[in-house]
Amino acid sequence: IQRTLSIIKPDGVVKDLIGTIYSRFETAGLKIVAAKMLQLTTEQAEGFYAEHKGKPFYDGLIAFMTAGPVMVQVLEGENAIAANREIMGTTNPDEAARGTIRADFATATNRNICHGSDAPETASREIAFFFTDSEIC
Ligand code: ATP
Ligand code: MG
Repeated sequence: IQRTLSIIKPDGVVKDLIGTIYSRFETAGLKIVAAKMLQLTTEQAEGFYAEHKGKPFYDGLIAFMTAGPVMVQVLEGENAIAANREIMGTTNPDEAARGTIRADFATATNRNICHGSDAPETASREIAFFFTDSEIC
């Protein structure tokens, strides 16, 4: 059993996709064991995406992620990290497999609806970024 951090980004919240996306997680056997909605500050977004600082898309990414509320959740299940990334589809929605969240709902790489941790170490760090142990059920 593994845990991963998922974020429904501001475009997903604005498009009223929280329920649809949660349904996809649960249908795939990923349990939602923690969740919160919050408006990221610039400092939080910069901290979360520190690995991308200096890249050409970084400033746009920070502006996008702070443009409105996000829904953040911890998903738990067998191979949760890979399972969530499979459900999401590739970063660029034009390349995402049919039936994935990004293929179905995202419009561009910089408006791609969701985030999912990409490895066990990043999952641990990202979960701790948003949740204390006592907030995870
Ligand atoms: P995420 O980390 O959000 O789950 P990812 O792991 O698929 O996505 P990363 O390479 O970690 O992709 O990039 C983080 C985010 O930065 C992407 O989800 C996307 O919003 C944005 N991003 C990445 N590459 C580009 C790009 N070339 N142009 C615009 N935005 C980008
Ligand atoms: Mg990533």
